Amino acid sequence: MTRPAGRGAAAASHDGRFRYKLNAMPFVITDPCIGTKDSACVDVCPVDCIHPRKDEPEFEQASMLYIHPEECIDCGACVPACPVAAIYDSPESTPASQKHLIEANAVYRAGDADAVARAEALVKQHAAEHADLMAIAPAERAAAHGKS
Ligand code: SF4
Ligand code: SF4
Repeated sequence: MTRPAGRGAAAASHDGRFRYKLNAMPFVITDPCIGTKDSACVDVCPVDCIHPRKDEPEFEQASMLYIHPEECIDCGACVPACPVAAIYDSPESTPASQKHLIEANAVYRAGDADAVARAEALVKQHAAEHADLMAIAPAERAAAHGKS
């Protein structure tokens, strides 16, 4: 499948952590996806940049879905499709409580076991540091993002 060019959003620095270029504005999936994971966003994404899909082997084990920051074309279609308001339109607009998940979106790569493990470890770290958010039902979690 030929994909439109993305925005070259994330770059790995020498210490292996991902940094965002100033002009990068990829969309970001956050913690209301944990416990929801219904793939509604996958169904509307025109460039197939949200993973894992239900037909990918990582789907059952994945805690949430992730947007590939270099392939996202910022069309915005996924935002209204998400039933739990999990998707923000840029790292800058994503609440500070979700910072580990910004990085998790950046590192996840379908079919790369190491990248999948790193993303899932970031999700676990997020959950450990935000037990308050995790105690809230997914549908209500986004409303609490700014308070955590
Ligand atoms: S903004 Fe568009 S391209 Fe980016 S993840 Fe959402 S639906 Fe896909
Ligand atoms: S639509 Fe929302 S909850 Fe469903 S998989 Fe996508 S980001 Fe997760």
